[in-house]
Amino acid sequence: MNLEPQWNDDPVATSRSSTRWSRETAQVVYDLPFNDLLFRAQTIHRENFDPNRVQLSRLLSIKTGGCPEDCGYCSQSSHHQSGLKASKLMEAERVIAEATKARDAGATRYCMGAAWRSPKERDMDAVVAMVEGVRALGMETCMTLGMLDLDQAQRLKRAGLDYYNHNIDTSERYYSEVISTRTFADRLDTLANVRDAGIKVCCGGIVGMGEEKADRIDMLVTLANLPEPPDSVPINMLIPIEGTPLGEAEPIEPIEFVRTIALARIMMPKSHVRLSAGRTAMSDEMQALCFFAGANSIFVGDTLLTADNPGEDKDSALFRRLGIKPMERQRR
Ligand code: SF4
Repeated sequence: MNLEPQWNDDPVATSRSSTRWSRETAQVVYDLPFNDLLFRAQTIHRENFDPNRVQLSRLLSIKTGGCPEDCGYCSQSSHHQSGLKASKLMEAERVIAEATKARDAGATRYCMGAAWRSPKERDMDAVVAMVEGVRALGMETCMTLGMLDLDQAQRLKRAGLDYYNHNIDTSERYYSEVISTRTFADRLDTLANVRDAGIKVCCGGIVGMGEEKADRIDMLVTLANLPEPPDSVPINMLIPIEGTPLGEAEPIEPIEFVRTIALARIMMPKSHVRLSAGRTAMSDEMQALCFFAGANSIFVGDTLLTADNPGEDKDSALFRRLGIKPMERQRR
């Protein structure tokens, strides 16, 4: 019996000669025997990245809670009773002081998140000052502020913003099950404004929200088929939060999660695939499998906006055991 992969009708090889992914091809890849899927994901990973380097980002909530959007997974929505106390926008000096500590601890990218539907004009000067200040520290800058129009995106670009995070969250089909205050098309519009302004896109989603496998695959097909695949693709595993509509969601099966990471790596070979929220619920072995499947970015620090994250000691210990080193900062 021939146990070698049949490269002639190999969906991965076929996909490399095509510029767009179809749901059908993506599903064939997702459903490959697990070892074949991981082998292919790791092969593609090695062609594009040092397999033993992982990029470290640090995330700070610059304005917490009180958000008018109703994202079913989020503790910061004013529609849900999560018990989270809302705060005002932080001052730029404090943000820059926090970023300095993160840089000194080894983070190369600093992500700043505000719980807004979109930034108000009165907040733009402070946000611009944060970008300029963090960039002056020699770090890459990333912001997530909700929807942006082209003018706002261009202002942030002029301030030196490197990345803008704006997740599509899930598939277009499932989107309205999770969020009712905006549409999937709204998300794509902001992504277009960010791209047109010349800012790199960080865009991914959340799995374990009760979606079907087809939704996870469709989400990745949308991302891979954007005019340019996102530079960073955060894949979050839902942390169910009491008081939110998804507080009782069934956790995703770990092997399905690893398959999602592998498919993201195969479909977006040059993107940084980030293991984002949910790592506290993952075993070390599951994280190791995710790195093998092509994940090469994590958030470091004890909290992610408002959710728990493994502390830096735990991450350093895991990196040591796996022989993984932090990725150096990308040149501008
Ligand atoms: S995910 Fe963002 S936009 Fe949605 S409720 Fe939370 S803070 Fe608001």
